[in-house]
Amino acid sequence: MIKKFIAKVFKRPKTHSSVTATVIHAGTHQIDKSHISQCALSVIKQLQESGHQAYIVGGAVRDLLLQQTPKDFDVATSATPEQVKKLIRRSRIIGRRFQIVHVQCGQEIVEVSTFRAKADLNSQHQQADEHGRLTRDNVFGSLEEDAERRDFTINALFYDPQKNIVLDYFNGVKHLKHKHITMIGDPTQRYREDPVRMLRAARFCAKLNFTLDPSCKAPISELSELLLNVPESRLFDELLKILLSGHATKSLEQLSSLNLLNYLIPSLDKSLLNEKNKLFVQQALSNTDLRIKEDMGVSPSFLMATLLWPSLHERWQNYLNKGEKNLPALFAATQDVLTTQDEVLMIPKRFEGTMKEIWGLQPRFEQRSGQRPFRLLQHPRFRAGYDFLVLRSQSGEVDASLAQWWTAFQQAPTEGREALLIKSDKPHSRQRRKPKA
Ligand code: ATP
Ligand code: MG
Repeated sequence: MIKKFIAKVFKRPKTHSSVTATVIHAGTHQIDKSHISQCALSVIKQLQESGHQAYIVGGAVRDLLLQQTPKDFDVATSATPEQVKKLIRRSRIIGRRFQIVHVQCGQEIVEVSTFRAKADLNSQHQQADEHGRLTRDNVFGSLEEDAERRDFTINALFYDPQKNIVLDYFNGVKHLKHKHITMIGDPTQRYREDPVRMLRAARFCAKLNFTLDPSCKAPISELSELLLNVPESRLFDELLKILLSGHATKSLEQLSSLNLLNYLIPSLDKSLLNEKNKLFVQQALSNTDLRIKEDMGVSPSFLMATLLWPSLHERWQNYLNKGEKNLPALFAATQDVLTTQDEVLMIPKRFEGTMKEIWGLQPRFEQRSGQRPFRLLQHPRFRAGYDFLVLRSQSGEVDASLAQWWTAFQQAPTEGREALLIKSDKPHSRQRRKPKA
C-alpha cells in the first residue's frame, strides 16, 4: 500500500527537457580524484555497475573544479531511493517530502538523491501557493531535468568519476572561471518558486567571493518580501548554514547590501550603524569563521546571542535609565528582543534557552567578592558567558580590566583565587534597611 502510494507520488514522467550538456574531459578540467571521498566513489561505482546513471553534483563539483577539497559529497542518480537502498549497504531513506538516501561510511555521510524534474506548475505533481512558491515538487525526472531544476549554473555541474568527465548544461564552468553567479532560467520566476534562493545567492557570493549577475540582483528588492511566506524552520536552517559557512562575516554583509538581513535578524541592520556594535558583531563573526577554518566547534546559540546583543544591550540601558533595577531591566530587554525577533523568524527553543543563559550571566560577572565568583565558575554555561564577556570588553562595552580579572581568576590555582577577590564591590549592599515606620 505504502509502496504503491510512493510509486504514485514519485511517478517518473517522460523527459520534457531539451537542454544538452557540454562534456568536459580530463585535461580541460583539472579535477584531482584524490580529493574525492572513497565513499562517494564506491556509491557511484555500485550504482553505475547496476545500470543506473550516477554523478557527483552540487557544491562538491564546484569545489573540485576550484581545486579545493569538498567538505561533503552529494550524488545524483537515476535510481529510485528504494533501488539505492537495496543496492548499497549502510544506506537509509530519509525525508518525507523528497526522499533521499543517506549512505554512512564511518563518520562520513554521502547524500544520494534521485534525479528530479523542475517545476511544471501544470503538472498534477507540482503545487504552488498564491505567490508561486512551490509547495510540492518531488517528482522524479531525467538527468537533464535534474540539471534544469537546480538554482545557479555553477551548481548544475555533474561529475562522472568513472569516465572522469564533467557534464555542464548551462555554462557553469565558464561562470566558475569568471567568478559569476547566474540563475538557471528566469531569476524572477525561480525566486518566486523558492525565495530561499535569494539567501543562497548571497551565501554563494560571500563563500566563493563571486559576483551576482545583475539579472539575479535586480529582482531581489521587489521579491524579498516573499521570504515572509517561507516556513520558519527552513529559513532558520538557511540562517544556520550562513552562520556556519565559515564566511559568516561576508555573508551578512552581502545579505545586508541586498536588504535581506531584515528577514532573518531584523534588529541587526540598525545595530550595525553604531561603530561599537559593529565591532562587537564583526569580532564574533570573525572568531566563528576562524574556528570553522580550524575545524573547531562553534555554538549557534552563542552566535545568535551575539547578533541580538547590541539591540538587547540598548534596551537594557533604556530600562535602567527609566529607573528599573539591573536584573529586571535585563530580563525585560531580553523579552523585548526575543519578541521582535520572533515576529520575523522564531528562534527554536533549544537555542533560545542557552542564549538567555549567556545573557543572564553577564551582570553576574560584575560581582567579584565573596562566594559569588566561585559559584559562577561552577555554572554550566560559565565558559560561554565568559567568552561573551571577553567580546564585550574587546568592543569597549565593558572595562577590559573586568575580563582580565576573570581570565586571571580562572587560571589561578584554586588556593590562589581567594587573594584575587575584590574586598567588596557593593559596599552598602549588606546594610540593613530601616524598618518602615
Ligand atoms: P555547499 O557547499 O554550501 O553545501 P551546495 O551547492 O552543495 O553548497 P546545497 O545546499 O548542499 O548547496 O545543495 C546541493 C545542490 O542542490 C546545489 O548545488 C543545487 O544544485 C541544489 N539545490 C539546493 N538548494 C536548491 C534550491 N533551493 N533550488 C534549486 N536547487 C537547489
Ligand atoms: Mg552541499
